[in-house]
Amino acid sequence: MATIHRNGDLDLLDGTVAVVGFGSQGHAHALNLHDSGVDVVVGLRAGSGSRAAAEDAGLEVREIADAVRGAQLVAVLVPDHVQAEVWERDIAPNLAPGAAVVFAHGLNVHFGRIVPDAGHDVIMVAPKAPGHRVRELYVGGAGTPGLVAVHQDATGRALALALAYGVGIGCGRVGLLETTFAEETESDLFGEQAVLCGGVPALVQAGFDTLVEAGYQPEIAYYECLNELKLIVDLLYQGGYEYMRYSVSDVAEYGDLLVGPRIVDDGVRQRMREVLAEIRSGAFAETLFADDAAGRPSFARLRADGAARAEEIERVGKELRTLAGVEGLLGVG
Ligand code: NAD
Ligand code: MG
Repeated sequence: MATIHRNGDLDLLDGTVAVVGFGSQGHAHALNLHDSGVDVVVGLRAGSGSRAAAEDAGLEVREIADAVRGAQLVAVLVPDHVQAEVWERDIAPNLAPGAAVVFAHGLNVHFGRIVPDAGHDVIMVAPKAPGHRVRELYVGGAGTPGLVAVHQDATGRALALALAYGVGIGCGRVGLLETTFAEETESDLFGEQAVLCGGVPALVQAGFDTLVEAGYQPEIAYYECLNELKLIVDLLYQGGYEYMRYSVSDVAEYGDLLVGPRIVDDGVRQRMREVLAEIRSGAFAETLFADDAAGRPSFARLRADGAARAEEIERVGKELRTLAGVEGLLGVG
């Protein structure tokens, strides 16, 4: 069983916490910490569009370098692809001696794009939810589960500091699961690529395309392969495989058990292992960072290809979601 913490000593956060970035995670961390009684300053670049939102929420805002100076702990909550640049330019040169650094995802640290000096605690507190949920649940008196990890323990109390921070943003109310930067980063990349954002949507589209190609109405294919997915996922989320199989018809269950392993066969599993190996070796990160450095030419091509492949399912989906009144209602984290 994993080690799950529910407590942390908020008194360890007795200095100022600089939250750099006021996006999805940044706004939630800053506001939750503030409401937990921690002294928070938000660090934003000059001219940032988020300044007004942060100030309206009652937070103190400074330019990043200024916020970092004098902070006991600096939370790096700008998007992953700009973190290295912001780190080099605004954070590292201004970090107080002995200040701790917290990340919400291990990508840059684990793959060596950000290498903090030896004197700093380097920790991770990663809520397993989009930022707006982290805020919403905190306000409602609940919390989101989170991961905690220590990359560098300069002070001997890095884990305790991570737990304090985790409690401050409300994750302690559910649980802070101990992990490592490697485990969080690699499993996160694998999950989003092979299952959540890559695998499942690709499976949905392949099913949709198969039906349409065979002459079925695209609207029928959409309802069957995409719309109903939510119902199945809700059942899995609520009660696991057994509950899902209990809830669907016997015919659906028979087909599921007979055909599922034929679709997601050993070939798929083998390619999942290959994808995982590329993540672990750093090959994926190297490709990603190189594309970023070149101005993202490959990303632009992939986006265009993805949009072209999904043209029909997107067109039909837009119409049907508008009919159902759900278009645009569901925030995406
Ligand atoms: P985001 O895109 O929502 O946040 C952007 C923030 O960074 C904004 O305040 C913006 O003003 C600032 N910013 C953007 N570009 C900048 C630049 N060039 N220089 C300075 N500031 C800039 O980011 P996010 O999704 O909250 O991600 C922050 C971290 O949290 C990442 O490490 C991410 O992996 C992690 N994380 C995100 C989620 C999530 O649900 N979004 C969940 C868990 C972990
Ligand atoms: Mg993830």
